[in-house]
Amino acid sequence: MACRIVCRLWFLSCRQIESVTGLRAGDIFKTLQRDLSDERRLVDQIYFSKATTRREMLRAASFLMSGSALAGFMPHALLAGAQAAAAGKAQTPSPASPADPVEQMKAQMAGVPLQTLKLRDNIQMLYGPGGNMVVLDGPDGKILVDSSFASVAPKVKRALDEISDTPFKMLINTHWHFDHTDGNVAMHQFGATILAHENTRKRLSTPQVTEFFNMHFPPSPAEALPRQTFTDSFKLYFDKEEISLAHFSPAHTDSDIYVHYQTSNVLHMGDTLFGGMYPFFDSSTGGKIDGMIAAATRGISLADDSTKIVPGHGPAGDKAALTKYRDMLVAIRDRIKKQKDAGKTLKEVIAAKPTADFDAAWGAGFLMPDAFVTLVYTTLQSDVPKL
Ligand SMILES: [Zn+2]
Repeated sequence: MACRIVCRLWFLSCRQIESVTGLRAGDIFKTLQRDLSDERRLVDQIYFSKATTRREMLRAASFLMSGSALAGFMPHALLAGAQAAAAGKAQTPSPASPADPVEQMKAQMAGVPLQTLKLRDNIQMLYGPGGNMVVLDGPDGKILVDSSFASVAPKVKRALDEISDTPFKMLINTHWHFDHTDGNVAMHQFGATILAHENTRKRLSTPQVTEFFNMHFPPSPAEALPRQTFTDSFKLYFDKEEISLAHFSPAHTDSDIYVHYQTSNVLHMGDTLFGGMYPFFDSSTGGKIDGMIAAATRGISLADDSTKIVPGHGPAGDKAALTKYRDMLVAIRDRIKKQKDAGKTLKEVIAAKPTADFDAAWGAGFLMPDAFVTLVYTTLQSDVPKL
């Protein structure tokens, strides 16, 4: 099974991973060729700091991150953070240091192609580097959702200009993460007013840590901060479009919102939805599996069979795909919770393979199966409410 998943991932993504990471394809493939017991040992290395050699740390990091290029992240940069975590090293890189994985990722994303997909006549999806973006265009101008990386900003501007010559009026951030907000300064300079949840402004204003990837973020400059914020919901009437925005209670982070283009029947779920892959949620800034499930359920309630649903990462989908994703999260959460409540250790739960029947469909994307089990297990509260 593992070999099949690895091979599928390989054929799907090696060219893209190689082109954006600068790693040699043969080296990447070698790190992916492993047996199942090896995978379990690698989880130990990451989470219990048992890695002893540079090679082991590289392999452990690769295990966690092998699909990340597909999701708009950069494995090469994340390797460094995961290696530091595996080695138990001090974890406050200088933002100016060329070795800082965050800065490496920001720079390297400039090499990832930005592509445009028409969702409706007036709504386009921009995807490739960073989180998926959505552009609404019409007589009143353009509204963009999420800003990717600063290094991608010239491509984003070019894509906006190619759509039409209407003015760029507003940027909405779905949450605080840097692969959705690093381009904020540039978008502000291009003339957009930034709107987001109040927690996005709070988190961008102060230092943040995403512990799972050992990534540290300094406060963002003032130009990057949302000028307009809300705490529960917000309504926009723009270009004959009625747009509803609302906060998900903590899900992927504590700052997530959805953007629902009600007239055009398009829903951007931000990173509460990863299309076709096990999702990441950032427990160090409020994310939790139950919130992810609740967010998916709320998205389902907003959609009908014609709704186009945009995830934070991965391809656009529909209500049926979102329902499958929610049901997968519920099944895996319940299995892991049952075993954790019964006193099973993380090692024992990983060995029981609670995701096995889902791995072929979901396990070759951003997080590999054992990493996702580890994320759920280590962040699961004992008083999990049922749906
Ligand atoms: Zn995110």
